[in-house]
Amino acid sequence: MVGTLRTGRPSVYKLKTAAMSALRVSRVLQHVAKQGWRAQSTATHTASSSSPASSQPGYNFELSEQQKEFQATARKFAREEIIPAAAHYDRTGEYPVPLIRRAWELGLMNGHIPEDCGGLNLGIFDTCLITEEIAYGCTGVQTAIEANSLGQMPVIIAGNETQKKKYLGRMTEEPLMCAYCVTEPGAGSDVAGLKTRAVKKGDEYIINGQKMWITNGGKANWYFLLARTDPDPKASTGKAFTGFIVDADAPGVQPGRKEMNMGQRCSDTRGIVFEDVRVPAENVLIGEGAGFKIAMGAFDKTRPPVAAGAVGLAQRALDEATKYSMERRTFGKLLAEHQAVSFMLAEMAMKVELARLGYQRAAWEVDSGRRNTYYASIAKAFAGDIANQVASDAVQIFGGNGFNSDYPVEKLMRDAKIYQIYEGTAQIQRLIIAREHFGKYKM
Ligand SMILES: Cc1cc2nc3c(=O)[nH]c(=O)nc-3n(C[C@H](O)[C@H](O)[C@H](O)COP(=O)(O)OP(=O)(O)OC[C@H]3O[C@@H](n4cnc5c(N)ncnc54)[C@H](O)[C@@H]3O)c2cc1C
Repeated sequence: MVGTLRTGRPSVYKLKTAAMSALRVSRVLQHVAKQGWRAQSTATHTASSSSPASSQPGYNFELSEQQKEFQATARKFAREEIIPAAAHYDRTGEYPVPLIRRAWELGLMNGHIPEDCGGLNLGIFDTCLITEEIAYGCTGVQTAIEANSLGQMPVIIAGNETQKKKYLGRMTEEPLMCAYCVTEPGAGSDVAGLKTRAVKKGDEYIINGQKMWITNGGKANWYFLLARTDPDPKASTGKAFTGFIVDADAPGVQPGRKEMNMGQRCSDTRGIVFEDVRVPAENVLIGEGAGFKIAMGAFDKTRPPVAAGAVGLAQRALDEATKYSMERRTFGKLLAEHQAVSFMLAEMAMKVELARLGYQRAAWEVDSGRRNTYYASIAKAFAGDIANQVASDAVQIFGGNGFNSDYPVEKLMRDAKIYQIYEGTAQIQRLIIAREHFGKYKM
């Protein structure tokens, strides 16, 4: 139940934050109703809802009214506010503060924060619908927003009540960012190779190390950070690493320069040095040794939205290429009338539709309380690959214009690449899928 005030005797804080989120959602929904925004072609673009599906037997490709409204709001926001600004942010690399503020006001960010922390408690399926729409507008903006989910997820799945109220609650009160600090210069795919150390001294841990490629690295209010606490190099991953919440303004936290990336340029990616950073023991998630499982467990809930982002990009590329093919003429015909081009568009449409089903299945599984690692990796790997193929085909259909930044598709091609790299590369997803697949057979 989105925005519903809880019964019982909530604290003033709880009342305030819950009321704020209720207010924000009702503002969104009123706005939707006033504007007459409705999802277009919702039925063909989406599958069963998260919780409502349980009351319906069999498969269900219909969204709930609330899901349609969130989707329509995100769609309108993307088309009317993100798309007109996207080229500017791509060119300048500026962090899209006004768009992030607006997304926050509309209730399109941080949707999975629990209600008792002032959030909307949306399912992964619901947030995927929103993510796909925002990504359609600009995946740089979507990644900045999505990195909040990634930073928050370890706290959502493993934080105690105090940690959740303190660090998630504040994000419902103002549009703050957070980040997930795991990768290091020497350890990306091989997470267990990370070198950042946390040493316990009294009631604190002292953290030293360097992180790399951290989305929202220079904009975050706090970080989820994974560090080694067991110095024994032979310690298992289940014992060696601990997850911390680190305040970004803690002395010794030193974000580096903003990295200039191939695509998604308005997203803020940085290295961060942690030098003698003191973190209170109360900021440990669960306990020493639990960190690796928490950090990896977050991906089951964040990979479906990453896949949804890739689908949003692919849908945009398909739409742009289709429109262009219906305007541009060669040899006396529209491009769309050349069978070779129409077949390319048909292939692109097949990929987009199947990738969408992939993220919806992965999201639905986890919302239903089932382990979805296999589906999350399939969704992420497939959507990442097809986003690259579809964006490249869109550039092809645009011909020379496709190679030029006055047209929208070259940005899409640059932006797409990261979906095969972050949150586990295309190869690492295949390792996971193979492991899960063989796990079903006796070897
Ligand atoms: C823009 C951007 C944003 C990012 N955001 C974040 C963030 O917010 N937080 C965070 O913690 N990290 C973040 N990352 C890091 C990202 O998750 C890593 O870059 C990614 O996991 C790959 O690690 P790596 O770069 O060290 O590559 P490597 O691990 O060195 O891999 C290099 C290549 O080898 C392949 N490879 C490696 N091992 C194997 C294997 N066993 N089998 C087959 N192939 C293999 C990889 O697939 C890849 O193609 C971000 C990265 C970028 C570029």
